[in-house]
Amino acid sequence: MSSVTAPTGLLIGGEWQQTQKRIQVMDPATFTVLAEIGDAEVADGLDAVAAAHDAFQTWSVTPARQRAEILRRAFEIMSAELETCARIISLENGKAWRDALGEATYAAEFFRWFSEEASRIEGGFRYAPNRDKTIITDHRPIGVAYMITPWNFPAAMATRKLAPALAAGCTAVLKPAGETPLTALWIGDVLQRAGAPAGVVNIITTSQTGPVSSAILADPRVATLSFTGSTYVGKMLLKQTADRVLPSSMELGGNAPFIAFEGADVDAAVSGAMIAKMRNGGAACTAANRFYIHESLAEEFTTKLESAFAALTIGPGIDPANDLGAMVSVKERDKILELLQEAVGEGVVATPSSTVPELGAFISPYVVRDVIHGSALTRNEVFGPVAPIVTFTDEDEGVRMANDTEYGLISYVFAKDPGTGVKLARRMESGMVAVNRGLASDPAAPFGGMKESGLGREGGFAGIHEFLETQYFAVDL
Ligand code: NAD
Repeated sequence: MSSVTAPTGLLIGGEWQQTQKRIQVMDPATFTVLAEIGDAEVADGLDAVAAAHDAFQTWSVTPARQRAEILRRAFEIMSAELETCARIISLENGKAWRDALGEATYAAEFFRWFSEEASRIEGGFRYAPNRDKTIITDHRPIGVAYMITPWNFPAAMATRKLAPALAAGCTAVLKPAGETPLTALWIGDVLQRAGAPAGVVNIITTSQTGPVSSAILADPRVATLSFTGSTYVGKMLLKQTADRVLPSSMELGGNAPFIAFEGADVDAAVSGAMIAKMRNGGAACTAANRFYIHESLAEEFTTKLESAFAALTIGPGIDPANDLGAMVSVKERDKILELLQEAVGEGVVATPSSTVPELGAFISPYVVRDVIHGSALTRNEVFGPVAPIVTFTDEDEGVRMANDTEYGLISYVFAKDPGTGVKLARRMESGMVAVNRGLASDPAAPFGGMKESGLGREGGFAGIHEFLETQYFAVDL
């Protein structure tokens, strides 16, 4: 078993609890077992809810400054131990070292940002228009938050929820993805070392995700659900939360268009495409999924992108020399290969850019030329290093094809200048638009989608409000 420095139990009420049954965590680059972790039953999930509910009574009235200082310490510990965090991420997720280190840094920043936000929660005071009363508004912590996170950003998706929840005065039960639980368990340890009181953060890992989650969502002590994952699972959970009219924040799937309009700088677009597509090996909800390139740029853009893909080195992510690591599992890798097969069946030629190591869940990058809008590669979230290229001639046609999806998380717009870019960005039906750049995510910015990409926003000033409830007092003053 390779050694990773993360706890392996369930974190409930400030104690690490071991379970009889264990779950193996695999390194997808070598297929070796990294660790064996706890396997929570429904009863353990409900114990975690009870611990969070008890802790809420004190944490919710703990002065914001004190909560902020704990979050600040979590930021400092994590920043001092970025490489430890990156190592766990890279080993269990497979991603390249540079991406793992980037994620660890990004994840730590949520602790810093929300430590600053904790003491800036505003209320409101105004007179009613006819002056018969005053309108006082307050924001109070909503209560116990149940959090479910995906495998693609095991650190950042956890801190993007834990940091605002704790800043708001909420307590948490976090269930990380089965593929990548060790990073979340390590973050639990960081928060404990930072001084989070027992029960404020609870973490459960389980092989019985459905039953354990359903029991937690049905428990009246749980006040909100914060989910990041696929639209498919998100819709299932929304149906369950409807039974209790439970507030839900949903960060769901994407199908991001990348559009290079006439006059865009091709080299800048290729550099942007490499980030928008290849960060995290293409396994990002924000990954550029479909490339719409104006006909005047298409040949040059495609040739340069092919060269950039071919230059990438592929191998275990833990080796900093590799640009592209393994996919998280063989199952996820094979989903991408199946989608490529479907595309080939539709008549495109898909040639791998490189050879890949025999052992491990590796996949070569692909640039796929002459893709038709509406075909499989443009309809599905690929979640891997595949770049389908569609050519367009007319600006309106480019915008129409980009918006022709049920998803609306992010769009990438490359235009001849920022002014034109922003004008086009306003036409995009997505919660976020990156203009002439390949990356938009920032802890200080509101992250979230339109349409079936989600409900609510994480990060920025909005993020803390997912964990606050507005209360209005009508008072004669
Ligand atoms: P997934 O939906 O399969 O799993 C996400 C989480 O839900 C995991 O923890 C999983 O164990 C849990 N889950 C699965 N079935 C469940 C059930 N019946 N009840 C309760 N929980 C259940 O997604 P994934 O494959 O882990 O992640 C990839 C997806 O996540 C992609 O669609 C991606 O776009 C999306 N994502 C979105 C964002 C965002 O911020 N919008 C960020 C990262 C990933």
